[in-house]
Amino acid sequence: AVLRELSKYDLKCVLLEKEPDIAIGTTKANSAILHAGFDAPTGSLKAITNVRGNALYHELQNELDLDIKWTGSLVAATTDEEMQTLQELLQRGKKNGVEGLQILSKEEVLKQEPNLTTVKGALWAPSAGVCWPFGAAIAFAQCAVQNG
Ligand SMILES: Cc1cc2nc3c(=O)[nH]c(=O)nc-3n(C[C@H](O)[C@H](O)[C@H](O)COP(=O)(O)OP(=O)(O)OC[C@H]3O[C@@H](n4cnc5c(N)ncnc54)[C@H](O)[C@@H]3O)c2cc1C
Repeated sequence: AVLRELSKYDLKCVLLEKEPDIAIGTTKANSAILHAGFDAPTGSLKAITNVRGNALYHELQNELDLDIKWTGSLVAATTDEEMQTLQELLQRGKKNGVEGLQILSKEEVLKQEPNLTTVKGALWAPSAGVCWPFGAAIAFAQCAVQNG
């Protein structure tokens, strides 16, 4: 992604990769979630880049023809204590600038996910999604190569 950004300018750049291909480090085996941004501590670089990165992927999806499904995400709570944690995540997410966050009741969760039978409620984050991380990394690199 850095190489693609640099390739927009008149620069000479090189990508060094010790393995036979790119994206076979951590990127090949993560959970593929485009996180909404309610997890990271407010004000941290991770929180800022998470929320901005999520928004950027909405644009990058078309530019790079990325395989992304904007599924939204649910953090399910099964106890009263976990319901309290959801409130903390909700408040943190709002401070981080995550839009559309909402605590869903048991009934509302079951409408979306009928198999979550022990659930008490959930935090709904509509801006989260899932992607194909390997394909995304390849798309960034291919675009950089096409840019020269
Ligand atoms: C189990 C797990 C689940 C995760 N789930 C998610 C998730 O759902 N969503 C999310 O956003 N993030 C997730 N992450 C984090 C995410 O996977 C990483 O932040 C991301 O993949 C890091 O990318 P990277 O390019 O910095 O590193 P890598 O993908 O590790 O790339 C580093 C590259 O550098 C190369 N390299 C290393 N040393 C040298 C050298 N000396 N010379 C040349 N090349 C070298 C490696 O071969 C590799 O290709 C998860 C991480 C883990 C471990």
